[in-house]
Amino acid sequence: MEISANHPSLKSWINVDSTSDFPIQNIPFGIYSDNIVKHHVCSAIGDKVIDLYALSVLGYFNALNIKQDIFNAEHLNDFIALGKETTRAVRRRISDLLNENNTELQNNKTQYAGVFKRQADVDMLMPIKVGDYTDFFSSIDHATNMGKMIRDPENALLPNWKHLPVGYHGRASSICVSGHSFHRPKGQTKPADAELPVFGPCKLLDIELEMAFIIGKSTQMGESISTEKADDYIFGMLLFNDWSARDMQTWEYVPLGPFLAKNFASTVSPWLVTLDALEPFRVKGYEQNPKVLPYLEYTGDKNIDISLEVYIQPENSEVTQICASNYKYMYWTMEQQLAHHTVNGCNMNVGDMLASGTISGPQPHEYGSMLELTWRGTKPITLKDGSERKFINDNDTVIIKGHCSKDGVRIGFGECRAKVLPAV
Ligand code: MN
Repeated sequence: MEISANHPSLKSWINVDSTSDFPIQNIPFGIYSDNIVKHHVCSAIGDKVIDLYALSVLGYFNALNIKQDIFNAEHLNDFIALGKETTRAVRRRISDLLNENNTELQNNKTQYAGVFKRQADVDMLMPIKVGDYTDFFSSIDHATNMGKMIRDPENALLPNWKHLPVGYHGRASSICVSGHSFHRPKGQTKPADAELPVFGPCKLLDIELEMAFIIGKSTQMGESISTEKADDYIFGMLLFNDWSARDMQTWEYVPLGPFLAKNFASTVSPWLVTLDALEPFRVKGYEQNPKVLPYLEYTGDKNIDISLEVYIQPENSEVTQICASNYKYMYWTMEQQLAHHTVNGCNMNVGDMLASGTISGPQPHEYGSMLELTWRGTKPITLKDGSERKFINDNDTVIIKGHCSKDGVRIGFGECRAKVLPAV
């Protein structure tokens, strides 16, 4: 299917810097607020947000037959639930309005102030009311590194790993939008030389470089989604930092998996980039050997080439890049994750969030967690200010960025940023 809003030749009458994440080919969706607007659905072009409620009130979406209230909302769920046919038409309409050859909005300069605002002047809010959140473990390099460090270097992957996308049910309540701060978690840990556990602030606070996709179409209990149909149910993607307390994790995770080590905070980027906008960046997936069961088989190029970067910024200091990875390193695709998640009849709801698991590449600078980057603290990272990190310190800000690039088009995700405050 050719998506007209993706065409590399499109140009906007709004100036867009070549390094911007938001050219006319992106048109992501989010929710913003400022001193006038409580919460409106918005899109982005260059360094501006586009107020879609304002466009709707001005009549620019009249042909699409959408209730204005859909754009005056705290979250994107109701907008997404309109279905891809409608949300695609909105994306196409915005693209048309921004097109250099279209004068409808371009010639109405008095309308600009209500429609366009500088991103620097608004607050981006949590884009989705997340119902259920699932986290996978689908990067083969990450799973191998974890197995080598924690178990057996000779048999790093557990026997099930290449047969199904391993996952667990996470916690939705503590997922926050980029820009929030949180206090270092406290909990039980058991030092290696101690007989009994101790209580206190986490000592090994880590990041997990991940991406998540948002469900755009609900299913009923008992229904399954095939890999072939999966894309109809995926609205879009965002950046995700699955903060992890490694010392708490080591002690608590047996036998039911992560619990308090993962549910104290997770950070998402504010822009939901549509799967449609990402289609041009699809690449071939991993050769899966052994062959997967028929319900996990798929055809076509289902990985996506998304460059991912992680930075640490200590308090009052400069930023250091610590990792450069890529979403294409996923062994299991989103389509397989969704097919697996629903093969037993588990129902999906609009706004559910399914995260990739830590995305590590084969090279040491491509590892998506401090645990791997510093190899459990044995190889500390030196930051630009000369300080060393084995894990994340108090008052560090961690920033994740991501973008695709091809044929002169750069589609980005904005920032996923959070600061760690000292334990209270
Ligand atoms: Mn994770």
